[in-house]
Parts: sequence; structure tokens; C-alpha cells
Amino acid sequence: MASTLTDRLSRLVKTMRGQARITEDNVQDMLREVRMALLEADVALPVVRDFVARVKEKALGAEVVGSLSPGQALVGIVHKELAATMGEGIADINLAAQPPAIILMAGLQGAGKTTTTAKLAKHLIEKRKKKVLTVSADVYRPAAIEQLKTVTAQAGAEWFPSAPDQKPHDIALAAVDHARRHFFDVLLVDTAGRLAIDEALMAEIRDLHATLKPVETLFVVDAMQGQDAINTAKAFKEALPLTGIVLTKLDGDSRGGAALSVRQITGAPIKFAGVSEKIDGLEVFDAERHAGRVLG
Ligand code: GDP
Repeated sequence: MASTLTDRLSRLVKTMRGQARITEDNVQDMLREVRMALLEADVALPVVRDFVARVKEKALGAEVVGSLSPGQALVGIVHKELAATMGEGIADINLAAQPPAIILMAGLQGAGKTTTTAKLAKHLIEKRKKKVLTVSADVYRPAAIEQLKTVTAQAGAEWFPSAPDQKPHDIALAAVDHARRHFFDVLLVDTAGRLAIDEALMAEIRDLHATLKPVETLFVVDAMQGQDAINTAKAFKEALPLTGIVLTKLDGDSRGGAALSVRQITGAPIKFAGVSEKIDGLEVFDAERHAGRVLG
């Protein structure tokens, strides 16, 4: 088992006992530990580099105040920077739109889009008392449309039918029309994913975005993707104005370093975390708590 950042830093703090000031050597030692621990938590390398550079700048300029030892002061700087990078506080879902508030779900195949669509429907019904409609624009996999139907029923939401011989664009317009006529508050649009990024997929989702003008465009990403999450995040950020991230499969054994990578690359807040395969396995993302998990 790899040492966590907390272990590494507390060892370092011990060796620094008795010192009165933060020295350049202390900072270098600490940065080395931070770099190792973040890589072990699966944070992507360029993100680790940026993070370490920011901590270095703060640490070298820091005055050690009051009763803090230099070691404690350094640890404080790392914690603070980690929480700030991860996002501050809780970023709620935005429904401020003329109903139906449209939420577009984007991400690779297998990321958990369909499951998350239903989980989010349930969340909006129970926590926000909304009337929710779902629709699948995945015309490539009939099974995906059926899967959304099944999980939408589990969520207690309504499902708008679509079929593989339709165009995603037409499905989207028909669903919006139905949602308007039947006074739905929210329309969740599940989209096709691919196993890897490809231009046709990106063009299609850009078109859907232009058609739907969603109030939320959520990027769904698998926390177990580790280092690869960064490339996926880059591609989706370039294609779409993302308003939020859902990090799925946080119940897996990853330390959740992907959160840091995806957050930094997209600049979008992480809004929810998927924590089980079940319909109620969605939590509002808490950056502070997650920073603690990455620290270990
Ligand atoms: P999509 O292709 O992006 O629509 O992905 P799916 O919604 O079909 O999910 C792919 C697989 O991941 C399914 O087996 C889901 O049950 C599973 N899954 C989705 N979210 C989570 C999660 O938060 N935790 C766990 N353990 N499994 C998840």
C-alpha cells in the first residue's frame, strides 16, 4: 500500500521539529512528497506539476505565524491549495431557466451517463420536487435507449421514447416539445458515447447543444479512469461549454485523483459523485471531504 500524502507530510513534519523557519530545503522536500502522493492518487502529471508550482510559490512566500511550526504551516498550505483546486463549497445544479430546464449529459461510453441520468432524475424529484422527463439521443445502441427506459422507471421519472432510425437532433426537438406541452420542469438528455473520443461524436453533441441550449451541460467521467481522464476532459471541454462534472464510480478503490485533474482541465465545478450502481447512489459533491480522500 502506497503512503498517503498525510503519512508523507507527517513524517516530514517530524523531521522538521525544532526548526524555527520554513527553509528552501524544507519546501523542496515537501514538494517531492506532494508530487509522489498525488501521482499515487492518480492525478494526471501536468496537473500535478501545476499544483506543485502553486504550492511552491505560496510556501516560499509564507510567513510562519503564531504557534505553528514550519512543518504544520507547510501542511496547511498543501491542504488549502488542494481544497481550492477541487472547488470551494458545494456547487448545486442550476435549474434557472424557462421550463423545461434542459440538462445535457456528455461523456464516453461506459462513463455512467445513463445510470447518472436516472440518478439525477431521482435526485431532482425527491430533493427539488421537480417533474422530470428523460430522453435518450443514443441512436447507435438500441440497448442504451431501453436501459434509460428501465432506469427512468426505477427513478420514478417519465421517459420519452426515441428510436435508432431517428436523428438525435429530431429526438431532442420532439422531447422539448413534449416537455413543454406536459409542463415538465426538467428534461434530462442522455447522449451517445463512444469508447474513445472521435470527431463525429463531438460534432453530434455540439449540434445537440446548439439545438437544446441546455442550462446545464454535465460531463460524466469515471473516477477509475485515472490518468486518462485528462484527455477525455480536454476533448469535451473543447467541444462544449461544460457547466459541471459528475464523477462516477467513486465507490471503487481509486483515491479519486481524477477529480483534481478533471476540475483543473475543465474549470467546471464537480457537482455530483456516483457512489454505487444503484439508483440512489448519487451524492452532491463535497470538495472539502474529497480533498481529504485524495490526501488519504
Ligand atoms: P454510459 O455508457 O455512459 O451510459 O454508462 P452506464 O450508465 O451504462 O454505466 C456503465 C456501467 O457503470 C454500468 O454497469 C453502471 O452500473 C456502472 N456505474 C455507473 N455509475 C456507477 C457508480 O457510481 N458506481 C459504480 N460502482 N458503478 C457505476
